[in-house]
Amino acid sequence: MMVLTRKMIEIRSILQQIGQSSTLTLPSIVVIGSQSSGKSSVLEAIVGHEFLPKGLNMVTRRPIELTLINTPNAQTEYGEFPALGLGKITDFGQIQRTLTDLNLAVSEKDCITDDPIQLHVYSPHIPDLSLIDLPGYIQVASRDQPAELKQKISDLCDKYIQAPNIILAISAADIDLANSTALRASRRVDPRGERTIGVITKMDLVDAGRGANILSDKQYPLRLGYVGVISRIPHSTTLFSRGSGNITSAILKNENAYFSAHPTEFSTESGVLVGIPTLRKKLMHVLEQTMASGLVGTRDAINQELEEATYEFKVQYNDRPLSAESYLAESLDSFKHSFKQFAESFGRPQVRELLKDELDQRVMDILAQRYWNRPIEDLRLPLPEPDPLSDLPKSDPESLYWHRKLDASTSNLTKLGVGRLATTVVAGALQSRVERLVANSTFSTHPYAQNAILGACNGILNDRFFSTSDQVENCIKPYKFEIEVEDTEWMKGRENVSKVLKEEAKACEAALKKVEETVGKRKLKDVMSFVDKVRKGELTLESDGGGGAGGFSAALLQKGREGIFLRDRTSIIQMRLLAVRSKQCSSKKHKYYCPEVFLDVVADKLTSTAVLFLNVELLSEFYYNFPRELDLKLGRHLSDAEVEQFAREDLRVRKHLDIIKKKEMLELALQKLESLRQLEGRNVSRGSQK
Ligand code: GDP
Repeated sequence: MMVLTRKMIEIRSILQQIGQSSTLTLPSIVVIGSQSSGKSSVLEAIVGHEFLPKGLNMVTRRPIELTLINTPNAQTEYGEFPALGLGKITDFGQIQRTLTDLNLAVSEKDCITDDPIQLHVYSPHIPDLSLIDLPGYIQVASRDQPAELKQKISDLCDKYIQAPNIILAISAADIDLANSTALRASRRVDPRGERTIGVITKMDLVDAGRGANILSDKQYPLRLGYVGVISRIPHSTTLFSRGSGNITSAILKNENAYFSAHPTEFSTESGVLVGIPTLRKKLMHVLEQTMASGLVGTRDAINQELEEATYEFKVQYNDRPLSAESYLAESLDSFKHSFKQFAESFGRPQVRELLKDELDQRVMDILAQRYWNRPIEDLRLPLPEPDPLSDLPKSDPESLYWHRKLDASTSNLTKLGVGRLATTVVAGALQSRVERLVANSTFSTHPYAQNAILGACNGILNDRFFSTSDQVENCIKPYKFEIEVEDTEWMKGRENVSKVLKEEAKACEAALKKVEETVGKRKLKDVMSFVDKVRKGELTLESDGGGGAGGFSAALLQKGREGIFLRDRTSIIQMRLLAVRSKQCSSKKHKYYCPEVFLDVVADKLTSTAVLFLNVELLSEFYYNFPRELDLKLGRHLSDAEVEQFAREDLRVRKHLDIIKKKEMLELALQKLESLRQLEGRNVSRGSQK
């Protein structure tokens, strides 16, 4: 039995998985011949099926690496394109269409490429063989083919017919051997004819005597000899069995009929070799021999490659083991760990602070709108008389005007949609925090995982959003009607709002400084004083410093207004800060004098209530569900291929995994090769004992 070829084919598949390098090429049979020499027919007769692209135009544009695998006990015959992942294809017509498509995918301009198509065929009726079909040689390029095509084909074939490959040179019997392009090409690389098998097709087209003469050719002697065949598929078979049934018996019947009709020329005693079965046996035998004699060389080449891979693994990766699964598991663990740390640092107090800050801002806005703002948009508008702010401390506690003002402000605050605002703020904080965690994790280089994580995060938050904001809104409802303030609450509010006001004043000053920087200090001062005068009625907008509006451009006037707004806002806040700190504001009795303190107390109450529910409805739910969702999306339910794809997204990890796989595959190949060598050794010694 031809064990060696089979094992070597196995070894080659292993090496192919790691991207076979040129030093590791194991011998194949390379099939060359002129167009129409019958090259496809010979290959199909060997396989027993029509499966090669046919057509008037040259259709073989890429080498086809054809691996035949004998499956002695199998019922079905099928093909597989390992690189395409199409699975088993039992319809050889479909294999033919796929090959045609793959060939046609090569652009007309390039015409041919040396990127091979790999095709494996499994059948109980074929021997273990490894063949490479190449584009047929052409004499002259036809009109729609590029002129350099002839050369390109020849170069491509030259590349493949190098040692240790065996050359199957196909020539038709009805063409003079001296004109055989295949034999000429083979002679260039194998001048002594040591690794070339001559195949003479179309034996039926010449006189039997002439046919027999060609086969025993003395002019172009080949050590491996010539085999004559008739590989044309009989017409009736083609009609009925295209793409399905096995055509071997029809071909053999046809062939046999011819050769046995000429016993003198073609009998076994005549010394010439004929027939597809003879050719098959010869191919098996020669390939087996070539593989055997190449064993040591192949082993040395693999060994060297392995040494290099081992060295690289040591130097670059410190011999650190890694697998796609372990990489994913570690990445997920460390992400969950960092999430846990975040969860521990972002609890009720932090949510409270976040929310209170947000409401503080709203309080500032309401105060500005209801108490502080002076209209500045229309420069012609005179300042309001009397100034409500300077009146505030003098206000009568019984005055309905001040009561209404505070009630309206409070209602602005309680009815601003605290439920939705609070939920949005907290959900937003969670989301941006998760985004930051992802960006700082190993997942940052993995788009698929990033999407999965952010999807899980948003999914939970969206699910909880409406119910949470409704709950919060319901619970703060009582404050929309009545607000009781305790002394301690008042004190705390006074403290807090002082801080907020101070910060607000600082922010205004900083903003003013910025305007100053963009306009220039001097210029800003000028334009502000102009606007001031207009507002006080001392000047009109028409007063000009040349071109109207004091000579200031519209943009500059706008900056002037901005400056005045900020300056006034700062001084009002400073003034209110003094008021808040004054004795008058030290007691809740004077809440109408001190709307800032009162509103702060309200904001604080709203915050506390909201936080209570946010914590239960949103935060705890999120902290519980998020890690589970992560497990679901990135854990067990991913297929091996998905895990592999995930890990390989990261270039560094991909290289690391590749080198490990390369090492493993080379070790496996070497192991197989070693046991083969031992087997060979035994066979040889047994042979010599006989
Ligand atoms: P390729 O271009 O070299 O692949 O050649 P094909 O295998 O397509 O064959 C070219 C033509 O020769 C086809 O029409 C085949 O039917 C025919 N042909 C192939 N082998 C034989 C044969 O042994 N005898 C005869 N009479 N015709 C053959």
